[in-house]
Amino acid sequence: MKSEVHLVEIKSDQCFWVDLMYAKNENMMRTPVYQKVGLGNRCFVHQDLAQCLSNLKPLLQKKHLKLKICDAYRPPEAFWLMKKIIPMEGFFALSPERSQHCHASAVDVTLLDESDRELKFPCAVDAYDEKFALQIARGQWDDFKAHLQKAKYDWNDLGFEKEIEHRNLLRNLMESVGFVALEHEWWHFNLPNKEKYPLVDCSIDKNGEIRFFIE
Ligand SMILES: [Zn+2]
Repeated sequence: MKSEVHLVEIKSDQCFWVDLMYAKNENMMRTPVYQKVGLGNRCFVHQDLAQCLSNLKPLLQKKHLKLKICDAYRPPEAFWLMKKIIPMEGFFALSPERSQHCHASAVDVTLLDESDRELKFPCAVDAYDEKFALQIARGQWDDFKAHLQKAKYDWNDLGFEKEIEHRNLLRNLMESVGFVALEHEWWHFNLPNKEKYPLVDCSIDKNGEIRFFIE
């Protein structure tokens, strides 16, 4: 049986900038998937995650930084649409159950300076590209795999000290308020104890009103 649950909406303010990559064309699918399912550029998270973000605010302010939120809750419908556009294995989790984004317990983030300029990181947050999708469709994985190395915390190439410093700063900030980093994606952070967070489904009506459900 389904029961309705409440997710917290995070809005842009002096500490956060909500700019969901899948609400825009500039992502690996070249299409605004979140607009198509009616979510748009709205950032919803579990209340535990909202609490962590709230605890982060004074730390960001002290460092004169802003957190750019590139992804948060992902409706299962959007997940399946993304899988349909890029069906190759290796791009997305196998099912919504396996993606913490669909449980409202994960965020993809980066940092902005006082002038809202993005700090340099080893690679783009959406570290995938149409060209990789085309190559993989032909069975050529080498370029894609080389590119994904830059998303990992053990990527420490010489000459990229600033990028690595920013990556580590982001990790320290997020971990200090309780997030868990993912070793192969510097921008992705989960809540701990993922068994506490069930899959969240949603219904979005024509007026954009969103209701969330768990089984
Ligand atoms: Zn993520």
